[in-house]
Amino acid sequence: MIDPFGRSVTYLRLSVTDRCDLRCTYCMSEKMTFLPKRDLLTLEELDRLSTAFITKGVRKLRITGGEPLVRKDVLNLIDSLSRHLKSGALDELTLTTNGTQLKNHAARLARAGVRRLNVSIDSLIPETYARVTRGGDLGGVLDGIKAATDEGMQIKINAVALKQDNADELGDMIEWAHGEGHDFTVIEAMPMGEIGEDRFDQYIPLSLIQEQFETRWQLTPLAHRTGGPARYVRVEETGGQLGFITPLTHNFCEGCNRVRLTCTGQLYMCLGQEDNADLRAVMRDNPDSDEALASAIDEAISRKPKGHDFVIDRPGSAPAVPRHMSVTGG
Ligand code: SAM
Ligand code: SF4
Repeated sequence: MIDPFGRSVTYLRLSVTDRCDLRCTYCMSEKMTFLPKRDLLTLEELDRLSTAFITKGVRKLRITGGEPLVRKDVLNLIDSLSRHLKSGALDELTLTTNGTQLKNHAARLARAGVRRLNVSIDSLIPETYARVTRGGDLGGVLDGIKAATDEGMQIKINAVALKQDNADELGDMIEWAHGEGHDFTVIEAMPMGEIGEDRFDQYIPLSLIQEQFETRWQLTPLAHRTGGPARYVRVEETGGQLGFITPLTHNFCEGCNRVRLTCTGQLYMCLGQEDNADLRAVMRDNPDSDEALASAIDEAISRKPKGHDFVIDRPGSAPAVPRHMSVTGG
């Protein structure tokens, strides 16, 4: 799949639910209204859609949400999709998770061939973690990470930089992560969905965070890119890898290789734009053949835009896109 700007689309992020057992302050409002369960794609439909993308050239599939591990039976989907790893059609099957349920599922994920996980933690101070997640238990997440590591999985820690909650703690978090053998990525808060707070109060540009790191460590830029929004450096003092996801201060779209499918079957060709394609309707109208689905995917890819228009420059500004990250799948 090649888009109009010559970018090859080889990466699908699949949201399996918009629900979550946490309510991170930058992601959701305290009282979120979730989709009725009957609107969600069934596991069979998620499998059929993923397989259609793999047939069209997707090599990497990331399961996300909401919190993917709160969806009952998601492990059955992962088990089923692992056939594409075994056949060689897929290079990587992976997950982004908040880690709260990881302890229970690590062994089965490893058996299905999941080798790497992204785990989101925004603070290693239990009280701060509980405040940012509105009630999360940090200890349970750390137990989950240990269980996954014991199963041989590689962990990358993701943290959103938050001016008031963790901007001063990120350096310590990175030293902890690198000491445990985990890569670390810092993410700039993106203006997606109403959260009941002003993002201007949360947002801190990663250029400031990077300046702060440069007074602490020597950072060596690494050449490799993943077709994603991250730039990577090596922290010489820890030997670990550090990524910066900077949608606002640096536009990351020129090498974009990914598309996102919501848990109701809408394909978003860009995280920061509203245009989407309703693949659920096409799939349900054509129960016996995937031909129409393949054409709908081609048509959608031909509309993949050049990039997003995110900006957080004024107090009180409305989100750039009305949907939450938990809908599109972060
Ligand atoms: N629940 C899982 C988790 O937290 O890892 C997966 C879904 S979550 C939407 C995926 C990632 O998006 C997390 O790392 C989260 O911190 C990040 N995220 C959510 N809302 C965001 C926002 N408005 N700006 C930047 N990152 C955001
Ligand atoms: Fe849930 Fe992940 Fe959003 Fe936090 S960032 S509320 S864990 S979906």
